[in-house]
Amino acid sequence: MTAEAFHVRPSRRAAPWRPRPTRSGSGRRLGPGAAILLGTGLATVLALGMSASPAAAAGRVTFAVPSATAVLLQPLVFRDTFTSDVPPSRVELLVTSPFVPGTTVDEVTPTARSNGSWQVTMSQPDAGSVNTVYLFSVRVTLPDGTTATSPTGTATVTDPRFAWQSVSGRTVTLHWYGYTQAQAQAWLNAAESAVTRASAAFGVTSVSHVDFFVYSASQPFFDAVNGGANADADGVYILDTHTALGTILPSDLGSSWPDQEIAHEVTHHVFAAATRNPYHEPPLWLDEGCAVYYSEGVGPRDAELEQGIADGAIIPLEGLAGAFPSTTDSFLLSYAEAVSAVDFFLRTHGSPALRTLLAAYARGSTDDEAFEAATHASAAAFDAAWLSSIGVRPPTPYGPRAAPAGPAPPGWSSSGVPGVMPSTPAAPGSPLPSGATGSAVVLIGFGAGLAAIRQRRATIRRSEARVLATGNRTIAADLAVVAAATAVPGQASAGSRDAP
Ligand SMILES: [Zn+2]
Repeated sequence: MTAEAFHVRPSRRAAPWRPRPTRSGSGRRLGPGAAILLGTGLATVLALGMSASPAAAAGRVTFAVPSATAVLLQPLVFRDTFTSDVPPSRVELLVTSPFVPGTTVDEVTPTARSNGSWQVTMSQPDAGSVNTVYLFSVRVTLPDGTTATSPTGTATVTDPRFAWQSVSGRTVTLHWYGYTQAQAQAWLNAAESAVTRASAAFGVTSVSHVDFFVYSASQPFFDAVNGGANADADGVYILDTHTALGTILPSDLGSSWPDQEIAHEVTHHVFAAATRNPYHEPPLWLDEGCAVYYSEGVGPRDAELEQGIADGAIIPLEGLAGAFPSTTDSFLLSYAEAVSAVDFFLRTHGSPALRTLLAAYARGSTDDEAFEAATHASAAAFDAAWLSSIGVRPPTPYGPRAAPAGPAPPGWSSSGVPGVMPSTPAAPGSPLPSGATGSAVVLIGFGAGLAAIRQRRATIRRSEARVLATGNRTIAADLAVVAAATAVPGQASAGSRDAP
């Protein structure tokens, strides 16, 4: 349940994170904690109400109030007891979240107790990210098919490692430890100002409450997001929990970093409010680009963009719609590209067009529909125009290609044998060298790997509310492989800046 609440394609927005601009010796590493919350063995049943009871068993089943233990880095445990005048035929735990559609249903085996009641206990390996809220109840089905559902319990994942204090504003509640009240109040003011700024820019009139947790060291931050952030990230916004978390080190005090970091993450929250829809989420580059643009502006990322251009490493916006690459250089470059593209959009089409674009996404528009509404041209046309503006030729995709036929094993024919790939002519320009068995194996293997990656990506896109943040990092790495394999040739040569 750490994935986002409203996007149909939740492959990456579970944790829009934010890296600092390049700096030396970051050395920050993500802990190995898994983000598996309600994993294997649980079925998500959409549109199943918590209290759906076709025939109530009122008076025959009596529940205690359910309880739970939800502590960061500890197992998540749900408990309840009930009495019934007949042994139940089925007992289920129903779990949902305030910001995630659908209910997770899992059958549990109750334990009969000596006093005639039944004990229900269910645990998961870990509780998820800090501030995750669980709403849970127990549903009992009796042999005659009647059902009864317990009262709903609530549990919020806490982080008891620190003595948290909180201060609240109109939209944001800031949680902190280890810093002064005055410092926290200043950060809250920065957060509220960012909400106001982004709301005006995005045309949003109503923004829901968001919690922001300030960690004063990196490892506790990574623990708190439970694997949901890139190793280079210092902040994260988790849509499913309406929670942002950021690292503000004591050494950051006095710099512009804390205010920028806080503004960046709450801008994601406002962006989500501007674009929320159940059909099609906007590209990640647009989300991150807006977060950078409205928190720090364009300039701080210029050097990384220039380096990316010089290296021929620019990834077209199409390649930054989903998860950003996970390697440090490409990860940072993605943010530089994203804010450059947003800056180009605003300089070219103006602020009203941005609001038109986001409003189109909020209606569930496709990328082309949204860009047509805002710019009178397709998303691809904008991508090409932005590339041109930075002097980069659109790359020519060259893959995937059909694998050339390899030599058949003894006794096998090259076609018509089950399990044998049909013989296909080698793609022009990629002749199979005579006797190059190894090459054929490599090419076939690559094709299969690509298919697997695409399958994984498609699966994750379909699995609303099931994407785990740890998986996102793997997918990001996979997609980086795809991008590298498909987008390198045709890019501007190193150092060239073609005229637009
Ligand atoms: Zn971000």
